[in-house]
Amino acid sequence: MTEIDNRSYFFDAGIRFQCQQCGACCTGAPGVVRVSPAEAEAMAAFLNMSVQHFMETAVREIKGGMSLGEKDDGRCIFYEEGCRVYPVRPAQCRTYPFWFSVLRSEDRWQQVVRQCPGIGRGRLFSREEILQIVRSTF
Ligand code: SF4
Repeated sequence: MTEIDNRSYFFDAGIRFQCQQCGACCTGAPGVVRVSPAEAEAMAAFLNMSVQHFMETAVREIKGGMSLGEKDDGRCIFYEEGCRVYPVRPAQCRTYPFWFSVLRSEDRWQQVVRQCPGIGRGRLFSREEILQIVRSTF
């Protein structure tokens, strides 16, 4: 059992979540959406685009890797009345809002609850499932 498993959390009873695809987490202030080479390849294939063209037009280099690009207003380059790559979106998007940086503090979690209408809806994620998702992002 690791340190992360061996304590209680505010989500011990689980959290309901179902993304409503509202785009609130894909728009707004600029940010970083990390993309692995395998994810870039999958997105390029989904868009019927060569990997080279994808890399030239859809990502930017960041310290230690690459991030999806953004439009001038800060929104994700793939957000246009919905996510254009939803079935193959990067792990960072797939694991939201169950991020360590969000779950480590209940105050931070409550901020995200106010921004994300998917929290409190849909199926119940158990504490163990949430911790597994958190672990997968390390
Ligand atoms: S803010 Fe929540 S409901 Fe809206 S797109 Fe993001 S994860 Fe889905």
